[in-house]
Amino acid sequence: MKYILSPDCLNVEGYLRNTILDLMRQNYAIIPKWDSNINSIKDPDFFNFLIKEEYIIENLYKKINKISVNYSSPEIIETIILDNYFNINTIQLIHFFNIRKVALITNSINDELVKYIKLLQNKDVNAIEVHFSIENLDDSLVNKINNITLNYLNCGFVVYVKKNCSVIIPNQVVLKNTSFHEERLNIGVNKFFINFLNYYESTLHNVYHNKKVYVSQCGEVYNSIDKTIYLGNTKNPEMILSNLVKCSLIWNTPKTKISVCQDCEFRNMCNDSRTPMQNKNNELFYINECNYNPYIAKWEGEEGYKTLAECGVISDENGFSIDHEKIAEINKELWGE
Ligand code: SF4
Repeated sequence: MKYILSPDCLNVEGYLRNTILDLMRQNYAIIPKWDSNINSIKDPDFFNFLIKEEYIIENLYKKINKISVNYSSPEIIETIILDNYFNINTIQLIHFFNIRKVALITNSINDELVKYIKLLQNKDVNAIEVHFSIENLDDSLVNKINNITLNYLNCGFVVYVKKNCSVIIPNQVVLKNTSFHEERLNIGVNKFFINFLNYYESTLHNVYHNKKVYVSQCGEVYNSIDKTIYLGNTKNPEMILSNLVKCSLIWNTPKTKISVCQDCEFRNMCNDSRTPMQNKNNELFYINECNYNPYIAKWEGEEGYKTLAECGVISDENGFSIDHEKIAEINKELWGE
């Protein structure tokens, strides 16, 4: 009986271990290193696990088409992030580019915000996500948020509160006991998305940054909140359009070509928002290190976790290098043979 890897499952190879991306059931499993060849499986327990989870199936068909990775989307800009800058210029910009997803960063819930959300609805925006930071969340604020989410069904909230609070949170609200910026740099399973669209996009693009722009509190438009590429002013959409080509490298470089992430088994599901930079060899890398070290398969805080530098992995503006022998020694100590 011949078995094959199920057509909607993908075996993603990492440095130390792999993941099976189960696109249909929107889930994943961590598996040992495997070359996708059924005949190469020596461990019967692993084979039985793959069968039980239906990651491999009997080959009853003459031919099974592989998943196509022909990703494309019609919009020039898909998502705009507005940092406390809600006015007619940004409405016109959204209209000019026909932008369908809008993220609003705000420190207050007031009439101006509600009026702006109403204007966005009239511009056929599909999804509005409000990122609201506040010291203390009380019942009156929760009521205001609740009213907005009831009146505007495509509007959701992420609320960042430092102090723990005991208020009851409505359905369309996600509560984070951290700041917006801490949350942004905190990479974990909360940033993993498993579905066909995310996978397609991840093979050709940076899924977080692709077709996304950021508007600062002064109305200046950049590629991201890290402001590494200036694109123009909200008053001048034509200039922004002509400058978008500058985002091409970041938008069109998938994680398979970014230092460290290229060796990570989570790279096709990870939507981390750090902005990649170019090192002196023109390779992309991240200045802030991820919470996960794919060379030893450990998350920060887990027993045995080490930073990249402690493992002999250097990724900075001068280039990228790996001390494979050092990593092998560390992994022998952590995981045995
Ligand atoms: S190493 Fe890269 S792909 Fe892996 S979890 Fe971190 S950011 Fe995501």
